[in-house]
Amino acid sequence: MQDLSHYVNGARVAGTSGRFADVFNPATGEVQARVPLASRAEVDDAIAKAAAAQPAWGATNPQRRARVMMRVVELLNRDMDKLAEALSREHGKTLPDAKGDIQRGLEVIEFCIGAPHLLKGEYTDGAGPGIDMYSMRQPLGVVAGITPFNFPAMIPLWKMGPALACGNAFILKPSERDPSVPLMLAEIFLEAGLPEGVLQVVNGDKEAVDAILENETVQAVGFVGSTPIAAYIYAKGCEHGKRVQCFGGAKNHMIVMPDADMDKAADALVGAGYGAAGERCMAISVAVPVGEETADRLVEKLVPRIEALKVGPYTAGDDVDYGPVVTAAAKANIEKLVQSGVDAGAELAVDGRDFKLQGYEDGFFVGPHLFDRVTPDMEIYRKEIFGPVLSTVRAGSYEEALKLAMDHEYGNGTAIFTRDGDAARDFASRVNVGMVGINVPIPVPLAYHTFGGWKKSGFGDLNQHGPDSFKFYTRTKTVTARWPSGIKEGGEFNFKAMD
Ligand code: NAD
Repeated sequence: MQDLSHYVNGARVAGTSGRFADVFNPATGEVQARVPLASRAEVDDAIAKAAAAQPAWGATNPQRRARVMMRVVELLNRDMDKLAEALSREHGKTLPDAKGDIQRGLEVIEFCIGAPHLLKGEYTDGAGPGIDMYSMRQPLGVVAGITPFNFPAMIPLWKMGPALACGNAFILKPSERDPSVPLMLAEIFLEAGLPEGVLQVVNGDKEAVDAILENETVQAVGFVGSTPIAAYIYAKGCEHGKRVQCFGGAKNHMIVMPDADMDKAADALVGAGYGAAGERCMAISVAVPVGEETADRLVEKLVPRIEALKVGPYTAGDDVDYGPVVTAAAKANIEKLVQSGVDAGAELAVDGRDFKLQGYEDGFFVGPHLFDRVTPDMEIYRKEIFGPVLSTVRAGSYEEALKLAMDHEYGNGTAIFTRDGDAARDFASRVNVGMVGINVPIPVPLAYHTFGGWKKSGFGDLNQHGPDSFKFYTRTKTVTARWPSGIKEGGEFNFKAMD
C-alpha cells in the first residue's frame, strides 16, 4: 500500500498530522493508498511558502508565464496514458472517459496561453487635458481551489491554469478520494518551468478547508462540489473577506419534444445518464418527455439500450460503458434512494438492484436503473442521486416541462431535444439554468466560454474558465495620470467632471 503526500515547494512531502484517509480502488473495493490529511499548521505553512514565491512569479511577464502553459500542454499530452490510468484506478471511470477528463482540463490550459492578450488592460488617451486613464489587471496574490472527486484532472486544471497564468500562487486542496492525479499535475507544472512554491497541493478534509478559509493571506477561493459544502464555503469565505466562487450539485432535465428524433434522444440519454456511472455534475438525471405518446415511445427505446449497458472495471478496456461508483458509501446512498423511489410508487422500468459482477463482488458497482412515472414530490426527483439512475417525469405540455426545469432548486445544465427551432429558442431564452443544450445532452461549454450553473448550483458572480476566470483571479487597478506638467497650475479641490 502506498502512502501519498502533499506537494510543497516543488517536492512531495509527507504529512505530519498523523491523520490519513483511505484511497480505494473502487473496482475491487481494496484500499490501495493512504492520503495524509493536513493539519491547520501544515496548510498555513504551505500558504506562507506560496506567499513568498508569488511576487517573483507575478512580476514575470505574461508571455513567459504563457510559455509555461504551452509546455504544460505538451507534458499533459506526453503523460496522457499514465495520468488516465492513475485517474481510473482511483476514480473508477473508464480509460477513454479519464482521457476526456484530462483533455477538457488541458483545453483550459490551452486557453491560458492567451494570458498576455487576456491581461491587457484598458487605456483612454486624453481623458482630460494632459490626462490619460488606464486600468490594469493584477494578480490577487495567493488563491486557492477546493475540488471534488468526480473530475480529478479537469477541475483542478480549470482552476490552477487561469490562477497561475494571471500571476497568482495557487493552493490546491483536491478531493481526498482520488488525490494521485492532482499530485502528478503539480509535478508536470514544475517540469514545465513553474517556479517552486507557486503551486502547492495540500491534501485534507474539513480541517484543511477551514484552514484555507480562515487564512488571511488567501485572497480568493474557488470551490466545486456538493451544494451544502458549496454554501458553507461561500458563506465562510465571504465572512473572511475573500473573493469566492462555489459550484454545487445538479439535477439536469432533458426535455424530449414529440417531434424529436427518438432514437437520437434515447442514445443521448443513455450516454448522458449513465456515462461515468452518473457521477457527473452535467449528467442528465431527469428525462421529461412531452405527452404520453412521446413518453411511451421514449421509454420503449430506452429500456433495451439501458439493459445492454456493460458495467465493469476500467481494466476491461473498450468492453465497458461505465465503471463503479467512487466509494461504498456512495453506492449505499444510491441504493437507499432507489429504494425510496420504489417505496414512493415510481415504476422501476429497468431494475439494476441485483447487479453483481463476477470476480468483483467487493467493488462499488451499481447496475443501471430507469424509473418511469416519477413525480416532483418524490425524493428521487428532488435529490441529486449521483449514480446510474435516470428518472422519467411525464409532462403534459411543453410549458409543464419547462416549469419542471424552472422550479427545481438546481440549475446547472439542461437540454431540449426537438426539430422545432421555435421551441428550442423559447426554451434557451426562458429557462433559468446556466448551461443549455439544444439536441446536445451535456452542454459543457468549451474552454474559451465559461462554465457555471444557476440557483443552488452556483454561488458567486463569475463563472469558471473562459474570460470570467481571468476576471476572478485578478483585480483591477485604474490609474489616472496627468503628465507631466498640469499640476503646476495649482491643486484642485473639487471633485469634478473632466473638462
Ligand atoms: P463534496 O462536496 O463532498 O467535496 C468537495 C470538496 O469539499 C472536497 O475537496 C472535500 O474534501 C471538501 N469537503 C467535503 N466535506 C467538507 C466539509 N464538511 N467541509 C469542508 N470541506 C469539505 O463533493 P464530491 O462528492 O467530491 O463531488 C460530487 C459533487 O460535486 C456533486 O454534488 C456534483 O454535482 C458536484 N459537482 C459540481 C460541479 C459543478 O461545476 N457544478 C462539477 C463537478 C461536481
